[in-house]
Amino acid sequence: MESLLFFPQPLPDESLYSLAVRYHRLAANNSYRLTSQELFGTYSRTCGSILPCCLGALSQRLEEVYSVEELIERFTLLPLYRPFVNDAVYSAACIAMTGSYGTGLKMSLGITASRFLKHTSFRYCDSCVREDTLNYGAAYWHRIHQAIGTCICPHHREGLLAMTFPDGADWRRMLLPSEERGTPVMESLDGAAAAAVAEMQLWGLEHPRDVQVLLKGNFLRCRLDKMRFVKSGRLRERMLRAFLAPRLLCSARAAEFEEIAHSSDWVLRVLRPRGVVQPFKFYFLCWLLGLSLEQLKLFRPKATLYIGDRTGGHDAVKAAKEVCIEAHRSAFSSSGNLKCHEKPGYMWLYRHDREWLAQYVAAHPFVRLREASIDWKGRDSALAQELLIAKNKLLSAEGKPKKLTRAALCRLIANDHCFLKVPHHFPLSIALVDESLESIHDHQVRKIRWAVQRYALDERSAMSVVYRFAGIRVSQVPEIELQTLLLLWSAA
Ligand SMILES: [Zn+2]
Repeated sequence: MESLLFFPQPLPDESLYSLAVRYHRLAANNSYRLTSQELFGTYSRTCGSILPCCLGALSQRLEEVYSVEELIERFTLLPLYRPFVNDAVYSAACIAMTGSYGTGLKMSLGITASRFLKHTSFRYCDSCVREDTLNYGAAYWHRIHQAIGTCICPHHREGLLAMTFPDGADWRRMLLPSEERGTPVMESLDGAAAAAVAEMQLWGLEHPRDVQVLLKGNFLRCRLDKMRFVKSGRLRERMLRAFLAPRLLCSARAAEFEEIAHSSDWVLRVLRPRGVVQPFKFYFLCWLLGLSLEQLKLFRPKATLYIGDRTGGHDAVKAAKEVCIEAHRSAFSSSGNLKCHEKPGYMWLYRHDREWLAQYVAAHPFVRLREASIDWKGRDSALAQELLIAKNKLLSAEGKPKKLTRAALCRLIANDHCFLKVPHHFPLSIALVDESLESIHDHQVRKIRWAVQRYALDERSAMSVVYRFAGIRVSQVPEIELQTLLLLWSAA
């Protein structure tokens, strides 16, 4: 893989497409295909998207001057969606943008279902173009201008223009703002809502963690409560709809706003989300409820104090539970390289947060640390010595001979029978045990010998007497062998 010889210095809030266009110009390439090949190593169909893919290849070609995470955070609009999706969806989106296969990415973020895509365009602000040309020598595409629902420049409060690529071409023409004809995104500029939404979206894009705090702290529910749209813990829907209707109608004369201004049904879906809430809808609702950017910035959650309603499963309980979940997740994820069920809070997470637990465990497999080197050979040798001593002890024990069994041997060694569980580590000891085990015949022979010595028996003694003294009920020693042994031992 070839590294890039150069790459444009990113400008404030510049989109990845804008960087690609400026690279294209600097390289004097004559086609997007060539530029894409150089930047991404493939023909990327998403370079002009707000959520471009192939960022892994680009990061490598930049010799990781920018990691994939930095590319995503600095040059794409994914951070705008970050607070509104869970970790799993966000990780999946990052993975999709790292690779070259982005199918389903916008669907997973709810953008496809939102019906806003048909209103998207390449937008720019005339004042930004002038200032950028003056300050940086070139105009460039600003990220925030491309966000769904941004119709006014948050810096200049001027209506954005949508550029039309000539001859029916699309972004592959690699143009910069105002190089072709632009048409106003809004019909009139009396859009306080559009300005407020644009400012909030810019702040949200740059401060996704602060927006997460808003969402976790039930920011909108607190506002509704304050506006008395919550009574006895329940949302007063009819009142809220009556309040919203006129504000919706006079919000802004732009396509995205008109897409949702005809009804307030979506407001309830933002308040009781089942899927991904579109950032634009969230910020627009903030404006509808009379909130300003400053109020968003100043919000401090009082999660555990807020009295929730019945519909949402009690917001206070929910908020407290979220805090609790966070604490357990944090304790679990920061407990080092332990097996998952040994980490603190495993059982709690298993009961209350199993989905997250499964994802975390799958993403962080237990890595078995290399065991300290154990001198198995030395242990085997020492154990064999012990077994030998045990064997001799059993053979020389006082009284009637006890049978040499595995259990009898093990009882006399320090580690009992544990070594039998890992026989492959103790080959010598296992072999010694196997050869030491005594058959019934051999044991009876030993007992007969003991009886001969103990009771001065000889070949004249009756066999039944010998067996009785030796403690043998069913003999395994043939009569002829017994006679021979008695003859031999009494002579000795
Ligand atoms: Zn501007």
